[in-house]
Amino acid sequence: MEIVILAVVIAVVVIGALGGLVIGSRKKKRQEPPEAAAPTAPTETPDITAPPTAPQAGEEPGGEARPSGGATVAGPEPAAPVITEPAPPAIEVPEPTAGRLVRLRARLSRSQNALGQGLLSLLSREHLDEDTWEEVEDILLTADVGVAPTQELVERLRSRVKVLGTRTPAELRQLLREELLTLVGTDLDRTVHTESGLDTPGIVLVVGVNGTGKTTTTGKLARVLVADGKSVVLGAADTFRAAAADQLQTWGERVGARTVRGPEAGDPASVAFDSVKQGTEAGADVVLIDTAGRLHTKTGLMDELGKVKRVVEKHAPLDEILLVLDATTGQNGLVQARVFAEVVDITGIVLTKLDGTAKGGIVVSVQRELGVPVKLVGLGEGPDDLAPFEPEAFVDALVGS
Ligand code: GDP
Repeated sequence: MEIVILAVVIAVVVIGALGGLVIGSRKKKRQEPPEAAAPTAPTETPDITAPPTAPQAGEEPGGEARPSGGATVAGPEPAAPVITEPAPPAIEVPEPTAGRLVRLRARLSRSQNALGQGLLSLLSREHLDEDTWEEVEDILLTADVGVAPTQELVERLRSRVKVLGTRTPAELRQLLREELLTLVGTDLDRTVHTESGLDTPGIVLVVGVNGTGKTTTTGKLARVLVADGKSVVLGAADTFRAAAADQLQTWGERVGARTVRGPEAGDPASVAFDSVKQGTEAGADVVLIDTAGRLHTKTGLMDELGKVKRVVEKHAPLDEILLVLDATTGQNGLVQARVFAEVVDITGIVLTKLDGTAKGGIVVSVQRELGVPVKLVGLGEGPDDLAPFEPEAFVDALVGS
């Protein structure tokens, strides 16, 4: 009798498991990745001539192994097979923006050590003669602080050090901290403005030369906004660089933000127009538009960005035009900044790759050059390595605290 019951149980389990395999594989067929049909990525179409293969245990159609195994027979529990729904793409929860710069301070200190420590050690010399002051100047100029701000700083340091007389290391650090803070500016509005209208989203245009980290920054900025509780639609208007739209879309998918894109080499202005239209219809808080940044000719750039700006403004006013600059490019970055500033009204600067250069002084020189504040800084390739710029945390990283 027991043997009969056991045989029945095994039979039920085996039939059930086989049923599970069939259902599981049918389900998987139905849920082939949607991008296979995307018109903009014909190369991603799966090879339908390939012989069908039975799904492997724990394998999703995309080929990624997953820990769950609804269709497997093996295992100690001979229960009825569980048909698992394929998990939706995991939506990440980005790190909160407040305090990011504090987390990234070690990277900033590492890269900017030469500036802060160099200045401190010079200022602690017993006799501060002309040669020493020249060395102070050299350090500031090498770090891209710029000629006029360097002269101002040296002048102020000279008179304050004279008043101070004997200097303890702590006093010097405090003095340098105060003067660098004055130079960087503590009263500038560094908010990334995304105030949407009653029926329209906030609109942010991201501009800059290709290679500066513009698309990456747009993706990271989407995470910053999502972390701040906003819903975001991305516009892939960099139709010039082939991979830019895919890259942006991947960033968006990670935080559940839709990406509006057009055909490769298509009209950037039409993508920008569509993204604002779709963002408005979807009731998004912010539309973030990545633009192409080829510095072919100033007129070409002006035409292209001018058109993007005009079509966007048919829907709603632009809240921000953020210029992305690669901090490692030094003077070249300043030249780019000048060109873009002539073409559009930049409202904020994003300095990328500050983790890879000792030239943090560009924060000061670019603000002076354009008269607009640095609002965000990139300190690495990680998804949350874009931080709101906080002068205090920046200066503390330079001089140590
Ligand atoms: P685009 O052509 O301007 O859109 O450039 P991308 O966004 O594709 O970025 C170019 C490269 O710069 C990529 O490898 C990025 O990972 C890298 N990058 C961007 N921002 C940063 C940053 O803050 N730090 C570092 N180390 N790399 C960055």
